Amino acid sequence: MNERISEEELAALPFRNMSLGLEERVEDLLGRLTLEEKFRLSVGIKAFFTRPIKRLGIPYFKMCDGPHGIGPHSTNNIECTYFPTGICRTATWNPEMAEKFGVALAQEIREIGYHMSLGPGINIIRSPLCGRNFEYQTEDPYLNKIMATNIVNGLQSQRIAACVKHYVCNNQETNRHTVSCEVSERALQEIYLPAFKATVTEADAWSFMSCYNKVNGVYGCENKNLLKERLRDEWGFRGFVVTDWFATRWSESTEKAVNAGLSLEMPTAMKFRKTRLRKTFNEGKSTEETLNENIRRLLRVMFLVGLFDDGNTLPKGSRNTPEHQTIARKIAEEGIVLLKNEDNLLPLDINKLSKIAVLGPNASEKRSMGGGSSQVLPPYEITPLQGLEEKCKGKVDIITTPSEADIAIVFAGLNHTPGMDSESTDNTIFDLPEDQIELINNTIQENPKTIVVLISCIVGMSEWVDKSPVIMQAWYPGMEGGHAIANLLFGDVNPSGKLPVTLPKKLLDSPDHLSKRTFPGDDKVFYDEGIFVGYRHFDTNNIEPLFPFGHGLSYTTFKYENIRITPEKISNDEEFTVSLDVTNSGERTGAEIVQVYVQDVESSVERPFKELKGFKKVLLKSGEKGMVTFDLDKSALSFYDEKNNCWKAEKGAFNILIGSSSRDIRLQNQIEYLG
Ligand code: BGC
Repeated sequence: MNERISEEELAALPFRNMSLGLEERVEDLLGRLTLEEKFRLSVGIKAFFTRPIKRLGIPYFKMCDGPHGIGPHSTNNIECTYFPTGICRTATWNPEMAEKFGVALAQEIREIGYHMSLGPGINIIRSPLCGRNFEYQTEDPYLNKIMATNIVNGLQSQRIAACVKHYVCNNQETNRHTVSCEVSERALQEIYLPAFKATVTEADAWSFMSCYNKVNGVYGCENKNLLKERLRDEWGFRGFVVTDWFATRWSESTEKAVNAGLSLEMPTAMKFRKTRLRKTFNEGKSTEETLNENIRRLLRVMFLVGLFDDGNTLPKGSRNTPEHQTIARKIAEEGIVLLKNEDNLLPLDINKLSKIAVLGPNASEKRSMGGGSSQVLPPYEITPLQGLEEKCKGKVDIITTPSEADIAIVFAGLNHTPGMDSESTDNTIFDLPEDQIELINNTIQENPKTIVVLISCIVGMSEWVDKSPVIMQAWYPGMEGGHAIANLLFGDVNPSGKLPVTLPKKLLDSPDHLSKRTFPGDDKVFYDEGIFVGYRHFDTNNIEPLFPFGHGLSYTTFKYENIRITPEKISNDEEFTVSLDVTNSGERTGAEIVQVYVQDVESSVERPFKELKGFKKVLLKSGEKGMVTFDLDKSALSFYDEKNNCWKAEKGAFNILIGSSSRDIRLQNQIEYLG
């Protein structure tokens, strides 16, 4: 069985026959592998590849970081499009944009001859301090799920595998390799798992990356409950699980990982070293049948991405194209959030300005190559200053003295170095660094018309928020960020992004910052807040946020009216429709993100004050009216019943709240669930 086979003979084998069904081809190839070859396929090589099996013509299966563009460390420094990071993309609340991003990223991956994106990263934003929040999406499971499934669909439409990461509860970087996240079943079901689950049940994700951390005492990469019982058996996952890089250095044993359903150990052999695997099988601690299932899944994905198909039949790749750069710009334009705009200082009128003062550490810094494994090397990156210079050329002078300028713009924020929005460490500060707070305050003193643009993930603003008339949260807006910021400041584009997270006034307001036990913990971190993450906590406990979840301003205004719910009572699995009219009541074309929250009027268990169950982004011209509808069913009314281990909707009334943010509820009506 071990002898070499000629290329002609290989080409004639059933697994190379494209007219056969997927499973038939997988079984044919699996059946040809020796036990030793299966061991070989279980571990990586060259940091981002699987090991080839020359005898059977199995080439490298190539994976690349990361969640907002291809990481040069995984490709030998190839230049690629640097898209805005996950939180900015999510702030668009635009599922179509998420899908377009997925398609574009897949095209780039295809073009460099790779097969899998190590992303999207969809861990829930639990603490404002998590160093990787900028890569992730949101504090809300519903928004998380909608954006994640669309990215997966986009990627896989190009036959590039998504690798949804980091499964699950990798919500902090401190002690990430060893910490045990002690989390209740209800919080897992309601908060941490829904988006992961949906990428399987609704988008057929082909791969998952297990987390470094333990979940309730068991490491992610050897967690049978997560990898087998939930992922495979309950959700019907047909893909494979890969470790996070080097995770098996900390995990317990070979047999646990094999038996839990881990297919691939990356980046190199540790627990899956041949000697260890042999011993495990010789001692009968695992069976070849178990290994076969793990390898079968890896092979299946190799077929799905077309590794054994004629290259001409695969979707075409493309990289660094104007189209991809336009997508990067549009995500930034839709994802940057206008938090505050006193006296309608924005949009700026270029004809009424002669001098703008531009200051701050983020005005002319490029940020693509920071942050850790999500770094990207783009062919260019437009800094905020460059964007403004291009926009103002020949019309407005850019200076650095606020007192001499018509308006001042401070580009503040963090910088993707350790402790400042970066992998491996959590953020060391919540507020901006002292010198930046001073810079903002001094600038405002010199020129009250000071705009603060934040290039960062979540930061505290309490020391200057009331003094600054305009605040824009620009996140990390990608290679076209400078253009997007200028377009928004000058009104070429009307802002439409909304916060996918709650911005707290102070760190202590956050539910996980009650004590060291809840963040960052030590050997264990206790998710004592349960399901009360983000706005679920702020709303239920009546804590005023700095800016609420779902908030974001526009240069126009929207009027909400005529909420209708039909029928007004439902039973069992019946659907109900919520509709309303939204009118652009201002002067400019603009997009509004209409949000539906559900509030249980009376419940036998503690429930959040309200929960997001739907949203729609509608683009309306000045004066235009649009109808927005949402189809919901009892799943929108349900909670996870820990006593009976199932989802449950209780009989009774539920308020349906329609808002422009979680704290700006414009319309309300009731639905009754009859059971
Ligand atoms: C990160 C992953 C990443 C991997 C490969 C790990 O340190 O946690 O997100 O995909 O490295 O670079």
